[in-house]
Amino acid sequence: MDPIDLRSDTVTKPTPEMRRAMAEAEVGDDVFGDDPTVHALEERAAELLGKEAGLFVTSGTMGNLVVQMAHLARGEEAIAGYQSHVVLDEAAGHAVVVGASVRALRERADGTMDPDEIRSAFRDASDPHQPITGLVVIENTHAHSMGRPLSVAYTAEVAGIAHENGIPLHVDGARFWNAAVALGVSGPELAAPADSVTFCLSKGLACPVGSVVVGTREFIWRARRARKLLGGGMRQAGILAAAGLVALRDGSAGMIERLADDHANARRLATDLASLSGIRSAGDIAQPGDGPLDPARVVTNFVLFRVEGDRRAFADACAARGLLLDLFPHGQLRAVTHYGIGMADVERAVAIFRSVLAETRPGQPASSATRP
Ligand SMILES: *Cc1c(COP(=O)(O)O)cnc(C)c1O
Repeated sequence: MDPIDLRSDTVTKPTPEMRRAMAEAEVGDDVFGDDPTVHALEERAAELLGKEAGLFVTSGTMGNLVVQMAHLARGEEAIAGYQSHVVLDEAAGHAVVVGASVRALRERADGTMDPDEIRSAFRDASDPHQPITGLVVIENTHAHSMGRPLSVAYTAEVAGIAHENGIPLHVDGARFWNAAVALGVSGPELAAPADSVTFCLSKGLACPVGSVVVGTREFIWRARRARKLLGGGMRQAGILAAAGLVALRDGSAGMIERLADDHANARRLATDLASLSGIRSAGDIAQPGDGPLDPARVVTNFVLFRVEGDRRAFADACAARGLLLDLFPHGQLRAVTHYGIGMADVERAVAIFRSVLAETRPGQPASSATRP
């Protein structure tokens, strides 16, 4: 039996329809602007987010990098969350490539930064000692807070602060569609306050490769130049974009609507996990979890939790039984639901958790469901 792979939603493989669309895609040299399938994807993404234009990039990391190159001049500074992907997980691209610094602010348990702290993080541009604040970045969903979705109201509030100071807001929306589905809002509603948004096709939307950046036509032109500089000008990229077009279809023909199933599966997994002794809360970002896991905190496709004892040994014991987890920062374990993981897999995963706990914690009932 294949392992149940809950390490990430990046492990998803393309659907049969995606593979067909890729095989049959009409292509051209996209560096010459000749690939109709790439054009169609970029237009579709822009339309879905209510923006003027889109740019297909190789990854979310490249997306965030071209965005920073397009928004920031050398020596400028971005305000971003201390636990955000652009700060932690992009190999300091802002410093190495963009020539910008980051002013990192603490996030709260719900993944937001305190608006007053954002306000006071702006530098004084009239003081020659200081860097010049040039961008605010928020992450939606916010991974380290258990994949919390940031609301339209919060996005608008942060955009308001950025715009009062004459600078843009970027939304790192690697899992933007998880946020929109969880909040029950449309793409344009959630994206409206932002000047640019990046979202990944290669995570919960199950495409093999790629992300899309959206914004104004003029901004996308600068991002396109930046992509070229990074070596990201791709030729017959319509083969890849074709999968994205399948993912972004309306309704049940596409991959957005079904994210609700991943959220329901994650909630179910958390509910069952919470009933097992030896499973602890992930805590919030700032605080280790010492209470029980609270399933109500699971609103998208991430379940973060801790175990009593050695988490690596725990993860290894799960892996030996066919359940793969990710070792997340802050001493947490992460289980992510996604396309290809159904309710039966969740049930099997819970049985594996139960048997590993029984082995490592004598006294734990090895069988019989404890879930009410
Ligand atoms: C995954 C991720 C990215 C980067 O995407 P890659 O395609 O892996 O480069 C950026 N931001 C967030 C929040 C992510 O989760």
